[in-house]
Amino acid sequence: MRDDYAVSRTITEARSTILAAVVGPPAAENVGLADADRRILAEQLIVEHDLPPFAAAAMDGFAALPHAAGAELFVVGESRAGKPIGSAPAPGQAIQISTGAFSPPGVGIAPIETVSLGDGTIRLEQQVKVGDHVREAGEDIRSGSVALAAGTSLNPASLALAASCGRSELACAARPKVAIVITGDELVSPGVPLSEGQIYNSNATALASLVSRAGGELIATTQTTDDWDPTVVALGTALEQADVVVASGGVSVGEHDLVRPALAELDVEELFWRVAMKPGGPTWFGRRGDRLVFGLPGNPVSAFVTFELFVRPALLALQGAPPLVEPWPCQLSEAVPLGQREQAIRVTVQPSASGPALATPTGAQGSHRNSSLLGAWGLALLPAGEGYLEAGAIVSVEPLQG
Ligand code: AMP
Ligand code: MG
Repeated sequence: MRDDYAVSRTITEARSTILAAVVGPPAAENVGLADADRRILAEQLIVEHDLPPFAAAAMDGFAALPHAAGAELFVVGESRAGKPIGSAPAPGQAIQISTGAFSPPGVGIAPIETVSLGDGTIRLEQQVKVGDHVREAGEDIRSGSVALAAGTSLNPASLALAASCGRSELACAARPKVAIVITGDELVSPGVPLSEGQIYNSNATALASLVSRAGGELIATTQTTDDWDPTVVALGTALEQADVVVASGGVSVGEHDLVRPALAELDVEELFWRVAMKPGGPTWFGRRGDRLVFGLPGNPVSAFVTFELFVRPALLALQGAPPLVEPWPCQLSEAVPLGQREQAIRVTVQPSASGPALATPTGAQGSHRNSSLLGAWGLALLPAGEGYLEAGAIVSVEPLQG
């Protein structure tokens, strides 16, 4: 049987078309650190003072000039965290010091565990050398160096670094506004009893979560029947409001698949329809001005997979972040049949004692099987071909959003 998809574009070609349609750079806005987790940095963060800003004790103990083991020293003062002492100890003297406290120049720290405590004196049980247990100023990051590059996805580590640089706000890329349009006469919302022939709308929930994890701001989700006027109104309204419109269902060749003609009616330019892949073959992409429009197939797995492969890169690119995730080379743990189109199969990934990590398909891969997404760590992208990819064959696995 002839497969129409054999003549259409690859996943890579489709992504190139999508990324070429993204116009930048993104708008930036200042965001407080407490709200900046997972946002994309829109500035280069340059450290404006040394980190740490001053030489500081790395241990609780006594700061002293170099002395041999056995030396008796008079304790002449204290340097506490936040309450620095102004002067350095003279020979024969020590300063009690706590972790993080200012450490005077020329000293080393004798940790408290290495001294015998007397009455106003200490006796060193170990030699003290200059710089022992002292964190030098700028030892972590030097003033003037780049701490975080623009395009960084902010996380607990990078936010902590920004805070230690004294920043309370960061310039972050504006979140692309996303509208979801769900089509399908058969769909009802969770919580409402099902009538004969109806199913629950699961894509609205999945897509909302995927949009938010990819940094998009979901501004509206509408649901429409497979009728012309409501479909045009729903898509037209979404186009007025959003930077990115994600439609679900109605992009295939059925008589009631109205999304493509409705978008044409709304002057959305088609950039592609169909990708030679499974699931997700009927995927549609177009634009109106700088608004991007995705028509994702309605099957839950198809909608999910094509979001990850096509919509997420667009949302990341719109925020100035690297759009594509580096794939992992993994070995298949079992033989997998190839087909006439590329396949994106859901896999778990486990470390292997020998060689690359093992990728195992999450059971049956039908595009209606929501359960095939459960526990999936990534998408193994298999080339089109005949026969099987045998167990042990190396495949590229792209991580899904965690
Ligand atoms: P379509 O792409 O509109 O032809 O839909 C393909 C299949 O996906 C049909 O079996 C639909 O019932 C199902 N489907 C479409 N939209 C959704 C949705 N929002 N949630 C769950 N299933 C859907
Ligand atoms: Mg439909």
